[in-house]
Amino acid sequence: MKSQIFPFFIPHAGCPHHCIYCDQHAITQHSGDISPKQLIDLERFCQSHSEVDKEIAFYGGSFNLLPQAKRFQYYQLTKSYIDNHTHLRVSVFPTVSNPELLSEFRQHSVCTIEVGIQSFNNQVLEKSGRSYTAAVAESFCREVKAADFQLSIQLMPGLPGYGKHSLRETMRITLDIKPELLRIYPLVVLRGTEIALHYQQGKYTPLTLGRAVVITAWMSGLSESHGIQLIKAGLHGDISSENIVAGPFHPQFGEMVRAYRYFQKVRKAYKKHSTLCISPKDVSLFKGRGGACLQNLKTAFGVKKIPIVIDTELKKDSFSVNNIKSDFFW
Ligand code: SF4
Repeated sequence: MKSQIFPFFIPHAGCPHHCIYCDQHAITQHSGDISPKQLIDLERFCQSHSEVDKEIAFYGGSFNLLPQAKRFQYYQLTKSYIDNHTHLRVSVFPTVSNPELLSEFRQHSVCTIEVGIQSFNNQVLEKSGRSYTAAVAESFCREVKAADFQLSIQLMPGLPGYGKHSLRETMRITLDIKPELLRIYPLVVLRGTEIALHYQQGKYTPLTLGRAVVITAWMSGLSESHGIQLIKAGLHGDISSENIVAGPFHPQFGEMVRAYRYFQKVRKAYKKHSTLCISPKDVSLFKGRGGACLQNLKTAFGVKKIPIVIDTELKKDSFSVNNIKSDFFW
């Protein structure tokens, strides 16, 4: 279900501990509880989207681990906006089975549950101080699915102890659970976090930007081929550069991933000296990011120019390779 989202940020609220890589104040650029101004914005949002499906989201904390009174305060706050088109979306921390909580969510119109899994590998979870096992996380996700909520999973390549094995294991379990939605946030070292200290002491090496793009492209390609929709790749672009110490941050990270996946598909299909027909909607993807996709293709085929046709009949993300003559080269 594709919904419009109105986000409330409740940084670190309910979190059982402060995860070594996390600073929700820096990520969300919100510092505290919900302000009167945000409620006015919510009112306007609901009015202007009265006839479309939408969700009021609580992001940046562990909604399920908030004291119950606090959760009920949030339900109360949003109650008058809930209708057939309007539901709640909550970010949660994976815990042991809790059917009562899911039933509470159901009663209060929660539709989507976003679970911060990060990895389904025990070694990675332990080294990252996540305080649950892969089995607990997996069973939590299955419980959410079985209770018929829309499930969103968040994964974080580049955590301490990660490697090919942990990534493969994480993806195997993710595909098997089959959440509806997926977020992939390669670990970025944020100022003031414990992992920043590890980095400065030489105990932690983040992913390079290029590696993070390749890994995320692989994860998202696999997911989408199993019907799981990628809704976000990389931290959002307006995070202040002052908060970033190291790691694969780029304001257009998601676009870089899309461009890389596009390049992979084209490279597979392209034949040297043939003409590449692309959709006008993909021109920026193909030539964008400093022409990386185009340049990679030229390098891969050892050519200086590639004959191109911009084909208005082609849909976004599609292309064809053929021998029609083109006087237009890139
Ligand atoms: S990663 Fe999630 S659980 Fe950990 S501190 Fe951040 S918001 Fe809380």
